[in-house]
Amino acid sequence: MTDEPTPLSPRRQSRPVYVGDVQVGGDAPVVVQTMTNTDTADAAATLEQIARLADAGAEIVRVAVPDRRAAEAVPEIVRRTPVPLIADIHFDHRLALASIEAGIHGLRLNPGNIRDAAKVRQVVQAAKERGISIRIGVNEGSLPPIPALADGELPPPKVQRMVDAALWEIAILTDMGFEDIKLSLKAFDVPTMVSAYREIAGRVPYPLHLGVTEAGTPGAGSVRSAVGIGILLAEGIGDTIRVSLAADPAEELPVCWDILKSLNIRFRGATIVACPTCGRIEVDLIPLAKQVEEHFQTLGKPITVAVMGCVVNGPGESRDADIGLAAGKGRGAIFRKGEVVRIVSEDQFLSALMEEGAKVIAEKFGDEAPAPPTSRDGDFIPLAPAASPRLPGRAARRG
Ligand code: SF4
Repeated sequence: MTDEPTPLSPRRQSRPVYVGDVQVGGDAPVVVQTMTNTDTADAAATLEQIARLADAGAEIVRVAVPDRRAAEAVPEIVRRTPVPLIADIHFDHRLALASIEAGIHGLRLNPGNIRDAAKVRQVVQAAKERGISIRIGVNEGSLPPIPALADGELPPPKVQRMVDAALWEIAILTDMGFEDIKLSLKAFDVPTMVSAYREIAGRVPYPLHLGVTEAGTPGAGSVRSAVGIGILLAEGIGDTIRVSLAADPAEELPVCWDILKSLNIRFRGATIVACPTCGRIEVDLIPLAKQVEEHFQTLGKPITVAVMGCVVNGPGESRDADIGLAAGKGRGAIFRKGEVVRIVSEDQFLSALMEEGAKVIAEKFGDEAPAPPTSRDGDFIPLAPAASPRLPGRAARRG
């Protein structure tokens, strides 16, 4: 692009925490995460999925630890994971204690369902001793019960109940001198979720994990997540994101990255600008755009490629991209860095874009292996000063 891509708002300042060697909050880029859907007790299947999710762009992965069988598999999973792991704990604080003992890198707890402050304190003490962070995960579907109301008294609005639940649990942790806290206040209803995050963002310094809970199937759920997460990120609120879809969790990751790319917050892989086609089109553009996307996503380099169907917007968009095609009837102009470099026939559109793209990538990145995700400044993701000894594969993965 000719103008430097910049986010809409400066980031809210938050207190940094670490999940293994990944910093969340502070000056770290917004971190992308997801959650496995394998049976955690099946360590091999869970590890296979974690590796696939890491390859697709997950920087932290959460695993459910619903019972003792799952907890018993955690040591093996922690030993072999390529990315830091968070244990998702509901109801039974002993599963949190077992996961901590197994070397888990972070915990997610729900204040609505452990309820007993003494048990939460036991978990916090163990987390403190191991130096691991805790996400307080408030969910609109599992809020603490509403206290008895006087005659005529109305229950507090849901947003207030969500914020109050978070503040209650925060107080338990901070009363013990524990500050390595992340927070999420998820709801399916986007205005509720946005209001809850806005409210808590102004009241506490902790990093925020953004998400729309149970967002739905890939189409509708991606849109709902993009709206909710996107509104907050556009305002500078949010330090890590998860898109929750009723799908293979690998499908969540391109959505996360597209949200970040759309707001000029972070870039991973190619950005494809493609015209929607209309009655002016004189080439078969839609399959070409798909082929171009597949090719450049495989290369994994953060360049912009424009595939445009005619002379109305084609030259303008193509000039602004790293490479572009402005197609006409039977032939088209290939742009590189704003200049027309070739006029080619329709059967050469794809090969010409691939060749010119290779030149741009060589100029920008040399012979490097495919790049890891970049921050909005183009820097590699900052890591904690010392890599976790529990993550032997991580340095290699980051190149
Ligand atoms: S670039 Fe041309 S063909 Fe594509 S949508 Fe715009 S006007 Fe139509």
